[in-house]
This record gives sequence, C-alpha cells and structure tokens, in this order.
Amino acid sequence: TKMLFNDQIMDRENLIDIEDRAYQFGDGIYEVIGVYDGTPLMLDEHMERLERSADEVQLKLPASINELKVKLLELVAANKLNEGIIYMQVSRGTSPRWHEFPGLDVMPVTVAYTREEERMSDVEDQGANAVLTEDIRWLRCDIKTLNLLPNVLAKQKAVENNAVEAILHRGDTVTEASASNVFIVKDGELYTHPANNYILNGITRRKVLQICDDLNLKVNEKTYTVTELFKADEVFITATKSDIIPILKIDDKIIGSGKPGEITKKVVQEFRSLYQQHAEK
Ligand code: PMP
Repeated sequence: TKMLFNDQIMDRENLIDIEDRAYQFGDGIYEVIGVYDGTPLMLDEHMERLERSADEVQLKLPASINELKVKLLELVAANKLNEGIIYMQVSRGTSPRWHEFPGLDVMPVTVAYTREEERMSDVEDQGANAVLTEDIRWLRCDIKTLNLLPNVLAKQKAVENNAVEAILHRGDTVTEASASNVFIVKDGELYTHPANNYILNGITRRKVLQICDDLNLKVNEKTYTVTELFKADEVFITATKSDIIPILKIDDKIIGSGKPGEITKKVVQEFRSLYQQHAEK
C-alpha cells in the first residue's frame, strides 16, 4: 500500500528516524478518519481538530489544512480504499534528542496511511461490555496527542476482561473511555461530559449531539458520577469507525435491562441513515 510521507505519496516503507520526536517523546498529534464508500467522513471536522491540536502544543503544521486534505484524498485514491480508516500524524520533527523544541529549521514530519476495515454492525446491534478504571491521564485530554500510554493501559485492562472499552473516572466523575466518549441515558434524557480539558471532543460525539437535537432528545453536557453511570437506564460509547456501541455491563454490573436501550437504538438508526445518505451522494 501507499503512504503519505511529508508531501509525497509513496510505497509504504520504514522512514522514521530514531530521533523523530514522535518516537522518543510522543511529541506530536494525530487524527483517525473513517472512510465509507471511498469517501472520508467528516474530514473538515477532523482537519479542524488537527489544526486545534497543533495550536495547543505550539506545533506549526507544514501545510495548510486544505493542502493536507488534498493529500489525504490522493492517498485514499492511491490505495483504492473503500471502507476503513486514514491514520495521520504530525510529529515535531527529527533532531538530536533534547526535551525542548528544536530550532525553527526543523520541519514537522507528517505521515499518513490507510487501513481497510469493515464496520462492526453486529457489536452496534448487540452491544458489548466495559470495565471501569481510573483516569490517570494528564489535564489536557482535549488535545489529540500521541501520548497514549494511559489509554493503552486502560484498553488492555478492558481486553483482559473480555470488554470492548475501559470507561474512565477522575475521582467521582466519569470522563470518557480509553478511545471513545461515553453517553448515559436516565429518565429519557442523555448526559455526557462537557467538552473541556478532561475529554477529547469526539467528532462522533458531536454528530450524536446533532442527531439528538434532530430527534428532539435532550442532552445535558454535564458531568455525572460513577454511581449515576451504574444506575443509568442506558449507556453507549462513541468513536470513529466503531461509531456507537451500546454498553450492557460494566465490570459485573448490568446496565438497565442488559440489552441495547430504546434511545440508544434510535440514535444508532439515525447515525446509520447518515451513512446511507453519504453513500448515495
Ligand atoms: N476519546 C478519546 C480518548 C479518543 O481517543 C477518541 C478517538 N478514538 C475519542 C474520544 C472519540 O473521538 P472521535 O469520535 O473523534 O473518534
């Protein structure tokens, strides 16, 4: 397959230097973009978030968002990707290993590649289990940086317990999950952590907020506690590619009826019809 290396589409090779700052410090930012029917979904939103992440860590993107978008579309075409993801990252560049920023002559290193992947519609229909674990991340979880070790440890705990996700709590407050956002439903209303420094403002999360608005479902962008999570009528998680997954059990506690809830199903249905519209375009 092909990859994007800076501004070149080329055969996939190992081109990363041992002193690339992404490799040594996790000093960089990234995006994962879903591709459906050969077209990236919500590409503008992803690129705007990349730009925001870059600003927040004072990394100067090597090209404009529009130029980067054109390159990603070229990559998708070169790989004839129909359904899957684009992974893109920008590191602060390659220079002798010192913690502080390198000089202005050091250019960021941009890489992107694609991966063919089918949608997991069965998990979306049937739901899955989660575990609860402490959120041990830093205080800027709103930036999509390459520093993912706490997320890796949390997801590993989930997998070891036959769960799809690890839901994170900071003290009493539920924040999000290791690689997705969390919504709960109680008495017909939805609750999700506000988009502040404690969570990544997911593109899928934003889409779900829009859908709920369209469906006249009330969403409270308010924090909720671990106790409220366990007592919720419904829980679901959202992320690019896995989209919306109903959560039936957290640790050994069954959520609501133990089946995907009615509101969750409505949101899933509406989300799917957006895919359909996208495919028809
Ligand atoms: N939270 C975290 C910590 C994530 O890593 C992700 C992305 N995998 C999300 C939420 C969901 O974001 P998006 O919907 O943009 O994929």
